[in-house]
Amino acid sequence: MDCLFCAINNKTIPAEIVYEDELVTVFKDIQPQAPLHMLTIPKKHISTINDIGEEDKDLLGHMIYTAKTIAAQQGYAEDGYRLAMNCNEQGGQTVYHIHLHMLAGRQMTWPPG
Ligand code: IMP
Repeated sequence: MDCLFCAINNKTIPAEIVYEDELVTVFKDIQPQAPLHMLTIPKKHISTINDIGEEDKDLLGHMIYTAKTIAAQQGYAEDGYRLAMNCNEQGGQTVYHIHLHMLAGRQMTWPPG
């Protein structure tokens, strides 16, 4: 399968990885939209949020837990940050391997564009 984020998981494409365990990889976004912009991805290939199965519920919880832990380690727990996932074209998804954006270090606006 030709998937950019699987290639980052497999280290065949370089990325600035800040954390990884048996379930997830966390790395810096190549086009940061905030002073801190990281992506948390599962090691398992899941194309979109629509493809998340019952068996993936713990994995999704682990992704959120990992992102919030890194946000705290980076010193953003008190000021706050945004976690976001985009689904399919109108949701703004461009890479079809699910990923949790973590944006921090500036005031976020609502609604997002
Ligand atoms: P999406 O638009 O929600 O699918 O987000 C995809 C994200 O992946 C964007 O924020 C991109 O900047 C980021 N991205 C694309 N290619 C790479 C890469 O090779 N390394 C790190 N981030 C990437």
